[in-house]
Amino acid sequence: MMKCFEEYLGPYPFWNDGYALVETPYLGMEHQGAIAYGNEYKPGYAGNTNYTGGHEFDYIIIHETGHEWWGNSVSCKDIADLWIHEGFCTYSESIYVECLNDKETAVDYINHNKKYVGNKKAIIGPYGVNEEGSGDMYQKGSLFLNTLRHMVNNDKLWWQIIYGLSNDFKHSVVDTQDIIDYMNTKTGLKLDKIFDQYLRYPNIPVLEYKAEKADKKDKHTMFSYRWKTDVEGFNLPMRYRVAEGEWVTIQPTNEWQSVKLKKTKASDINFDENGFYIKLDKQ
Ligand SMILES: [Zn+2]
Repeated sequence: MMKCFEEYLGPYPFWNDGYALVETPYLGMEHQGAIAYGNEYKPGYAGNTNYTGGHEFDYIIIHETGHEWWGNSVSCKDIADLWIHEGFCTYSESIYVECLNDKETAVDYINHNKKYVGNKKAIIGPYGVNEEGSGDMYQKGSLFLNTLRHMVNNDKLWWQIIYGLSNDFKHSVVDTQDIIDYMNTKTGLKLDKIFDQYLRYPNIPVLEYKAEKADKKDKHTMFSYRWKTDVEGFNLPMRYRVAEGEWVTIQPTNEWQSVKLKKTKASDINFDENGFYIKLDKQ
């Protein structure tokens, strides 16, 4: 675990303190250099490996150790932004899975946790009143980071960003805007509206789409799509493929756009739902 985390996140931030798991009656809690550990050396979450997508690892050791980077080293200024601790830490569980297995297994691990997301309340809470946002900050936070990875679509750059965040902000306090600014600079993209939709609203983006006959004489299919979002000007790209064909990237906006395809049934159009955390709405 430590080898994986140090590879992806940089050196353990507290070697001066050391690293310890301290057995406690409580299940688990991050404390700098002395993690409260009560998983009783069972696999998964207190013996439940359904929670870890069938993986046998000790969830409490992996998750609470992830907090040494996210929470104990990089800390949020206001607990309204607690997703910086829990979202990145939950995402680090998948880093461990990717390090031991491969990207596909890690993406599956992240998507396995969709069932725990409520999408009823925003992840970011109200600022300045000591109030956390929704518990979705864990699983949805991780699904959001996975979505950004697929938007960036360059794993080398993605891992430089993750490593960079934990090292450039080592032992410091940050807020959501610091994370957005950092990612905008490193990617050259404008990610503000994507962060806003996923973190400041309960709803995830809905991709409305339809596939219709182009016109009476023409046998082609007109494939149309648009985003339905709370944020105006939402600009997340998307990938689709017809049946098992090649992935094609499109740039949906809040306005309808169309492309002409060879005769295609709407049911044969597949979207990258493992790479992007979205809802689909076939019109
Ligand atoms: Zn946590």
